[in-house]
Order: sequence, then structure tokens, then C-alpha cells
Amino acid sequence: MTKPLFDQVAIIGIGLIGSSIARAARKHGLAKRIAIADNSAEALKVAGELKLGDSFHTGAGDAVKDADLTIICVPIGGYAEVGQAIAPNLKSGSILSDVGSVKQAVLRDLGPLVPDHVHFIPGHPIAGTEHSGPAAGFAELFDGRWTILTPLPGWDDAAVERLQQFWTRMGAMVETMSAEHHDLVLGITSHLPHLIAYTIVGTADELSEVTRSEVLQFSAGGFRDFTRIAASDPTMWRDVFLANKDAVLEMLGRFSEDLATLTRAIRRGDGETLFAQFTRTRAIRRGIVEIGQDSPTPDFGRPHPDLPHAPVPRPYAAED
Ligand code: NAP
Repeated sequence: MTKPLFDQVAIIGIGLIGSSIARAARKHGLAKRIAIADNSAEALKVAGELKLGDSFHTGAGDAVKDADLTIICVPIGGYAEVGQAIAPNLKSGSILSDVGSVKQAVLRDLGPLVPDHVHFIPGHPIAGTEHSGPAAGFAELFDGRWTILTPLPGWDDAAVERLQQFWTRMGAMVETMSAEHHDLVLGITSHLPHLIAYTIVGTADELSEVTRSEVLQFSAGGFRDFTRIAASDPTMWRDVFLANKDAVLEMLGRFSEDLATLTRAIRRGDGETLFAQFTRTRAIRRGIVEIGQDSPTPDFGRPHPDLPHAPVPRPYAAED
């Protein structure tokens, strides 16, 4: 095992992402000690049972006192509260990072609270599942996935390099970009697809001509893949759309225009336009598989061997 990168790492929020970091940091020997804080007594209890950390705290301020690296892993709506709790206790020369899915809002909400003697380097692992909580995490979540860091201009090279190492030793690949560019890229690759999935699953639920059991029974026709995305955590995703409003509205505008083009092609019986579009998008899917960001197997190639069988969430738990 190689030398730990940090003496103490503090993880604030021990849900899917926080617990995956704790597991990966342990597995790869990246921290001598891990301090964990969470709002939820239940999450702390589970994290304790799973031995994800060395100390467990209800107050985020207590967890960060001796930390060389603090990572905030709570939904973005909770950042200001966490920032206020930890700011007075952050160690001089330590690194403060996060995993939030939107980056400009993090700079806005957290930036002003961070003391000058702390290296503030926001981050976002492009890895996740539709599950939440400490039991849902797994050490391999970041394997072969990208983590984007959005350090502020004038960043400290050594601190960024150390945080990069932390992620690469957990199996991730690291890219650096501005917070603004991050929000635009993720607006199209993540936020808009989630919005579409949430919409389409809701629309299917409201169809009076098709029963809920038919929706379930015939879901493999394409609908099923949307339901996985639409089962993602409501709190987290509410916060993402509120925090990345401008980029999402921009992408939604473009999407609506393209949808109108396809709508017109269908109405006019314009098979050529439809065929050309579908050929183009098929090539994109193949490209994603080729660069190893997905597998050609069904279910997006995402086995979750450690997860217990979970019942289908409402409203798709059939009542009839
Ligand atoms: P999660 O599984 O729901 O866990 C979040 C945990 O943080 C919960 O235990 C929650 O407790 C706790 N928490 C909430 N507010 C808090 C506060 N103010 N102080 C202390 N603890 C607090 O969430 P997650 O999916 O890991 O997401 C965490 C972050 O990762 C989000 O910012 C999200 O944007 C980002 N992210 C998520 C994914 C993904 O696929 N899920 C991927 C990349 C990045 P309560 O339940 O009591 O609120």
C-alpha cells in the first residue's frame, strides 16, 4: 500500500457520493483517519456500522477541525449552512473541496465563506447512480470516470495537484475547467437528460388510455431506461435545477427547437430527416462505448452487486 495522501479527511454528508469516497479512500489507503459528519442520525448510524470512518459527528464544524482535506457531499441547497458551520474551524493550509453537480452556485454560496488560509478547489465526479444514502455507495464508483475540478484563477498548483492525486488514486481521471464551462457542459450531458426523464415518466403516468401495469410490463421498449434516471434523488435534483437555471434554460431552448424539427418531419412524413438524425445519434452512442464511458451490454452495463433488491418506487409499484 502506498503512503496516505492526507492525515485526516473530513467528509460532510455520508450519502451515495460521500460514502463512496470514504470507501475508496479506505480501499486505496489515502487517509490515515476519516471524520464523517451528517445531518441524519440514521445515516451516521449506518456509516458507523459499515465502518466508513474513524469519527462521526452531528456537527460539520467538529468534523473539519484537524482535516487536511474537507469534502462537502451534501445537496447544493445545504452548502451555505455547511459553509457557515465549518468556516471558523477549517485548518490553515488545508484543502476544501466538494462534489456538487453545479459549480457556479457553489462559488457563489460557499466562496465568500472560505477563509483566505484555505485552498478552495470545487470538484464534481461524473459518476453516480439513482440510489441514495451511505449503504448505496461503493468503492469502485469512480473507476474510469471523470472528475472535473474548477479551481479559481490564481490557484495553488501544489494543492490542486494533491487533490488530483486523491481522485486518480480512487480510480478517476481528472480534468480542470472553469465553473461556467462546467455548468454548460453538464447542462446538456446530465441536467437536461434528467429533466426529460422526469417529464416522460410523469407523462406516461398520466396517460389514461394506458394502464400502469401496461407501463411496467412493456417498459423494456425504451421507457425503462428513462425510469432509472427518473428515480434519482428528488432533493438533489431539485437543487441542481434551481442552481443551474441559466444553463438548463439555454439547453432546454435548443432542445425544444430540435424537437420541433423532428415533430415537423413526422407530421410531413419526412423519413429522410428522421433517418439522418437517428444515424448521427447512433454514432454518438457508439463513440461513448468506444471511449469506455459505457458498456454495450443492456442496463447501461452498470452492475450493482452489493445493492439489496429494492422494490419498484411509486408510482410504478403497480397497484392494479
Ligand atoms: P445523498 O445520498 O442524498 O446523501 C446526502 C447526505 O447529506 C444525506 O445523508 C443528508 O442527510 C446529508 N445532508 C443534507 N444536508 C446536510 C447538511 N446541511 N449538513 C450535513 N449533512 C447534510 O446525496 P448524494 O447523491 O451523495 O449527493 C451528494 C452531492 O453529490 C450533491 O451535491 C450532488 O449534486 C452530488 N453528486 C451526486 C451524484 C449522484 O449521482 N447522486 C453524482 C455526482 C455528484 P438528510 O437525508 O437528513 O438530508
